[in-house]
Amino acid sequence: MAQRMSIDQPQSGQGPAFVGIKFCPECNNMLYPREDKENRQLLYACRNCDYKQIADNNCIYVNKITHEIDELTHIVSDVISDPTLPRTEDHPCPKCQSKEAVFFQAQTRRAEDEMRLYYVCTNQHCTHRWTE
Ligand SMILES: [Zn+2]
Ligand SMILES: [Zn+2]
Repeated sequence: MAQRMSIDQPQSGQGPAFVGIKFCPECNNMLYPREDKENRQLLYACRNCDYKQIADNNCIYVNKITHEIDELTHIVSDVISDPTLPRTEDHPCPKCQSKEAVFFQAQTRRAEDEMRLYYVCTNQHCTHRWTE
């Protein structure tokens, strides 16, 4: 469960290998972790050039995704017809581009989630749920 990022194989002449830190083979700048939301993968991307690589250890990202899907499946699409819930037009649906969404805070006991907002698309043919 508490698996850590894999340590890069130290290569001779490249200095010490840091846990979880990778360097661009093109320009030697630090690679930053970045989410590839479409493919649900963790990438390492260089900010200096276009270099990207898929992280060989996906455990951190996979944990996060599993958790999010778990929370989102508990949201029923009925919330879009609940008149007591606030609506926003500032968060267009990422799936159907519908402008209006219902939003609310997570009903969870986990402190880290207390501030998290959940959105549900009010388009009845879509009812896509997402979170920030
Ligand atoms: Zn680079
Ligand atoms: Zn939608």
